[in-house]
Amino acid sequence: RFITFEGIDGSGKSTQARALAERLTGAGREVVLTREPGGSPGAEEIRRLVLEGDPDRWSAETEILLFTAARRDHLEKTIRPALAAGKVVVCDRFADSTRVYQGITRGDLRRVVDALHALMIGREPDLTFVLDMPPGTGLARAKGRGGAEERFEDFGEGMQARMRAGFLDLAAEFPDRCRVVEADRAPAAVAAEIARLAEAELA
Ligand code: C5P
Repeated sequence: RFITFEGIDGSGKSTQARALAERLTGAGREVVLTREPGGSPGAEEIRRLVLEGDPDRWSAETEILLFTAARRDHLEKTIRPALAAGKVVVCDRFADSTRVYQGITRGDLRRVVDALHALMIGREPDLTFVLDMPPGTGLARAKGRGGAEERFEDFGEGMQARMRAGFLDLAAEFPDRCRVVEADRAPAAVAAEIARLAEAELA
């Protein structure tokens, strides 16, 4: 099974992905914990190309091509082989992040992301946890980590609010696989709810 975590910067995706992977491993399952952008040696190189250095180096369109190239490599080298071996793949971000982030950069880019996804990726997760929290809380946690602030000129509560709405819209668009989890709580409480939902799905 293929499980992904999505949500705004600072919503706790990495912490919760790790917690679920540990929980499933403890329950005797073979788990591969991975992340995007990245998750394979080639995709990690592309991550550095996109996220390090001058944020204006690539146009929005080129960035989508790079993210899609990274995802394709990740799928070929890491995700598909693990799923074929019967493992559970837990991934911190996947295509939904590209849909929301690049869709927010410019509304018409969502179409481009979807067309490339259909052509080159063609795989949706079986289960997606959308970690939801108020923009202010996420912002406080994401600030100073040097990620989104550098990438988005107007990174702030307004943008975080638009991204939050984008993820909630996506959850409504893909209700079969998406579960919205209230993430503005103690991490252990969030982890317990996620574990319960995941076990129900994997049973
Ligand atoms: O999730 P992580 O912190 O590793 O993401 C690294 C950076 O890449 C974040 O600043 C995130 O906002 C950005 N990102 C992006 N577009 C995506 C995925 C991530 O701009 N599709």
